[in-house]
Amino acid sequence: MNFCSHCGSDQLQLQVPHGDTHPRLTCTSCQQVHYHNPSIICGCIIERDDEIALCLRAIEPQKNTWTVAAGFMENGESTEAAAQRETLEETGMQVGILDLYSVFNVIHMHQVYVIYRAQFVAQTQPMGLESSAVQWFKADQVPWHLLAYPAIKTMLKRHASERQSGRFNLYLGDADSGRTTPIG
Ligand SMILES: [Zn+2]
Repeated sequence: MNFCSHCGSDQLQLQVPHGDTHPRLTCTSCQQVHYHNPSIICGCIIERDDEIALCLRAIEPQKNTWTVAAGFMENGESTEAAAQRETLEETGMQVGILDLYSVFNVIHMHQVYVIYRAQFVAQTQPMGLESSAVQWFKADQVPWHLLAYPAIKTMLKRHASERQSGRFNLYLGDADSGRTTPIG
């Protein structure tokens, strides 16, 4: 940010506001404090029979790798609504939320992922521009070496094995380490 979005001044400085704990970008002209907090990314592991649907990313970052349908939560929506909207936008699929499945922090990216298991309902529109392909995979067909991020791979491996047993767990933690607790 180079200009204050409140008054348009370029007099921005990092300061710890009175009573605050962190340095904030503060406009010394109008005193507006510009907070930057982590982004929430919501998405779905889409299930149908013994398959899951993954998206091949058409855009950077991680172009041409496979991942779950997910994207930034918007103001005015719930995490579940965001996960369903992102799934619809990227895959064209309407889904029903089954359960919360994984909440993990990507601290260096200032992101929190909130991923649900979701049941495929219907293909209601074409896939979106962020995907160059959307494809159904059985567990042994998933392109494990071409997934977008290690955390996505870890999550989908766990999902594949838990799906075989029929007993799902909720993951809470960071991208590379955390704990699981049984759901239900
Ligand atoms: Zn200002």
